Amino acid sequence: MTDTPTLSIVVPCYNEEGNLIPLVTAIRETMEPLKLTYEIIIADDCSKDKSWEILEKLGAEDPRIRALRFVKNAGQSAAMWAGMNAARGQYIATLDADLQNDPKDLPKFLEALKQADCVCGSRVEQRRKGDNVVRQLSSKIANGVRNKITRENVTDSACCYRVFKRECVGNLKFFKGMHRFLPTLFKIEGYTVAEIPISHHERFAGQSNYGVWNRLFASSYDLFAVRWMQKRMFRFQVKDRVNF
Ligand code: UDP
Ligand code: MG
Repeated sequence: MTDTPTLSIVVPCYNEEGNLIPLVTAIRETMEPLKLTYEIIIADDCSKDKSWEILEKLGAEDPRIRALRFVKNAGQSAAMWAGMNAARGQYIATLDADLQNDPKDLPKFLEALKQADCVCGSRVEQRRKGDNVVRQLSSKIANGVRNKITRENVTDSACCYRVFKRECVGNLKFFKGMHRFLPTLFKIEGYTVAEIPISHHERFAGQSNYGVWNRLFASSYDLFAVRWMQKRMFRFQVKDRVNF
């Protein structure tokens, strides 16, 4: 066991054998000069490649690297949730394993966190650098529909590069696909959310787990559940108490 870290960096991982060592190296390079205690929690969503062997090795060399592995593939949201649940830091960062999100942006997030409970990355300005036109378009449409239904103006809801205070996840309702709605779910709980532009790169190694179809439609079902939650969640404050 290491000392309680200030920042827990949570990474979902499915078949990312070619990315894990470069990712951990990049995180270390960014974090070392910050003089901030941190841990990296990698949730292996039952990868079929050598990801787990690599994680065991990384964990044996560095106690700040913690890893868990699912029995069966349970999806990105579940992996993120398991990682967040294990986090011990005052702050939690979530980012993808494939280096599309750049660990170099972490200090920017931490700075912005002084003004909000959660800071979300937005790839909008840099999108064309990391994704082809079809991916950009399907993501734009899905994002637009999500904003319309949930009355939000999140510029990039599917971007999972975020940093937030650990208390934000305390009461979170979790479900498959929740990673696309995290800013809205935090707002339902009364937390403040800010956005910052981030870098966006091509996948370093391996393949994307999503096609146009699931990028466009996978979340439409969840969308109405989130809208329902926004409208139906209790919102009350106790004014006075007697004999409590
Ligand atoms: N991922 C996961 N379980 C899955 C699918 C994806 O843990 O069933 C992880 C994946 O390893 C990556 C992140 O979720 O760290 C985002 O996946 P991907 O890069 O395939 O999505 P894209 O960037 O293409 O939208
Ligand atoms: Mg990716």
